[in-house]
Amino acid sequence: MTLVYSEIMVRYGELSTKGKNRMRFINKLKRNIQDVLSIYPEVHVTADRDRCHVFLNGQDYAPVAESLKQIFGIQAFNPVYRLSKDVAVLEKAVQEIMTGLYKEGLTFKVAAKRADHSFELDSRELNHALGDAVFRALPSIQAQMKKPDVTLKVEIRDEAAYISHEEIKGAGGLPVGTSGKGMLMLSGGIDSPVAGYLALKRGVDIEAVHFASPPYTSPGALKKAHDLTRKLTKFGGNIQFIEVPFTEIQEEIKEKAPEAYLMTLTRRFMMRITDRIREERNGLVIINGESLGQVASQTLESMQAINAVTNTPIIRPVVTMDKLEIIDIAEKIDTFNISIQPFEDCCTIFAPDRPKTNPKIKNAEQYERRMDVEGLVERAVAGIMITEITPQAENDDVEDLIEDLL
Ligand code: ATP
Ligand code: MG
Repeated sequence: MTLVYSEIMVRYGELSTKGKNRMRFINKLKRNIQDVLSIYPEVHVTADRDRCHVFLNGQDYAPVAESLKQIFGIQAFNPVYRLSKDVAVLEKAVQEIMTGLYKEGLTFKVAAKRADHSFELDSRELNHALGDAVFRALPSIQAQMKKPDVTLKVEIRDEAAYISHEEIKGAGGLPVGTSGKGMLMLSGGIDSPVAGYLALKRGVDIEAVHFASPPYTSPGALKKAHDLTRKLTKFGGNIQFIEVPFTEIQEEIKEKAPEAYLMTLTRRFMMRITDRIREERNGLVIINGESLGQVASQTLESMQAINAVTNTPIIRPVVTMDKLEIIDIAEKIDTFNISIQPFEDCCTIFAPDRPKTNPKIKNAEQYERRMDVEGLVERAVAGIMITEITPQAENDDVEDLIEDLL
């Protein structure tokens, strides 16, 4: 017989400490797993208090395992074989498993559990029978009770018998959505996707807010932001992508304010608009990719001038990291290669040669008095376009295909 994994048992992470909220956490995680695994139509996911079960229904184990490894809130998981409750079948199975794994000096033990008490052998007898079967196939293998290389876990349940021997470490963290919702200010750069990933890790459900200034920014820049968002869906499921029309505001700033303050004013508008969207959509915080001292606009003075337009907490997950640390993470989460695609976003295009490194709030406010700030913000918010980004690249692929054909 050839053994094929039929199911993956998922163990919960930090949420086990959360007492009363346990079921809420579990249901969130289950939904997230369903979202992420939606790219495998055969796969079916259920959850109970202790574990989540991923039924493969014929789907290949390896890619599903790769997806599971990324989902926050999973401590570890075990792939299992589902077998008929027949001692001869189980003996054959353990022989096949251990023959596949065997190399010199390998140690093993059998840990059987009989939940179905009508089964012919009890746990101890089953340990012996299956251990003996392994010795018959591999006479030189060693049994070892303490820390063996391989533990064959065998469970006899009412409906079937299960064997597992592998445990794979999960991503840990908290299930996305269990810490509330935040708005991620997502540019096309390297830093903001990393900031988003780190917020997801702590259970924050993010919505991506992206400012686009067509025709100054290209459809390529927008697609880049979509692609970055899609990369973030593998950690906890679908993400709402909010595109904000920003052209009018950038033209207005360019016309009414001095060069040195373009950056500061642009960022203040972005912050106001993101905050307005947050309020309408019941977000609790804003997340951005600001970090200190990389560029002139990222001084503490600049941060203060930008931050002054809101009291909403702003989370800056990468604020103290240096560029190489951020790039390391960007590579790990596979966003780096998208981020370095050469599509300019709205900031690059309107960026002054020499932005002010120590902007004053008073001056920013004075320049803003030349504009209809409230009207500009309202029109931008009224013009947002919301798309749900899923792990499936289907639609984009079709678009690419059409583009390629034309
Ligand atoms: P990133 O690599 O994320 O673009 P950066 O190092 O280029 O960051 P800035 O360009 O100063 O830094 O941007 C600081 C932060 O402002 C970004 O990390 C992002 O959160 C936000 N931001 C900048 N441009 C946009 C945009 N077009 N849409 C949404 N948010 C933006
Ligand atoms: Mg940038």
